[in-house]
Amino acid sequence: VIEARQVVLSFGETPALRGADLAVAEGELLAIMGPSGSGKSTLLHCLAGILVPESGEIHFDGRRVDRLGESGRSRLRRDEFGFVFQFGQLVPELTAQENVALPLLLNGVRRAAAVAEARAWFGRLGLDGLQERRSGELSGGQAQRVALARGLVARPRVLFADEPTGALDSLTGEHVMDLLVSAARQEGTTVVLVTHEPRVAAYADREVIVRDGKVHSLTAEAIA
Ligand code: ATP
Ligand code: MG
Repeated sequence: VIEARQVVLSFGETPALRGADLAVAEGELLAIMGPSGSGKSTLLHCLAGILVPESGEIHFDGRRVDRLGESGRSRLRRDEFGFVFQFGQLVPELTAQENVALPLLLNGVRRAAAVAEARAWFGRLGLDGLQERRSGELSGGQAQRVALARGLVARPRVLFADEPTGALDSLTGEHVMDLLVSAARQEGTTVVLVTHEPRVAAYADREVIVRDGKVHSLTAEAIA
């Protein structure tokens, strides 16, 4: 459903992606691993239309994401994708619940319905009682789960999640992964997640490794 072909992107003199190839099937739960600075977040941003590669192609559902303009990419992100940033990136002045309702409001869902739908995620993620808390006053692990709720609330075709369990204790991390597995299995959501934890990657259908800006499938030679 989503594919990167020979994607190249540098930040000034720093090459982040050097010909990355990756194809993710509809409904697949894919884990991206690899060392710090290898290009995992950059790859996720390119797939999701947040960054545009210097060269190479991004395909989603038969469309060329890299050829869309800024507004076309924003629309695609709003209508089809959910994105959980590595560092949460909630709106700190808004309450947790307002942050979660935001994607629904942007999709034209009426306020009462959006709030009701947002509230449901707090129970699912063990965040009951935190709905009215300003998101700037949440702990790292709480903010991470609120960011995940915001990513899932609009039931996106594809969820991109950058280290969604990084700030969680292992039990909460397992619960979050169960939730992502059920999104993939029951809703058919395609999930592309970045993690450095092998235990988290073990929940995925498939693992790949990003190293020096290229994607390797998880085989003995890639690890060696
Ligand atoms: P981590 O596991 O630490 O999150 P990563 O694999 O996600 O790392 P990226 O964030 O994709 O790595 O970064 C790839 C390379 O691009 C690194 O060398 C990084 O320093 C550089 N880089 C990433 N974002 C920027 C930016 N906004 N400006 C300049 N350099 C950047
Ligand atoms: Mg990263």
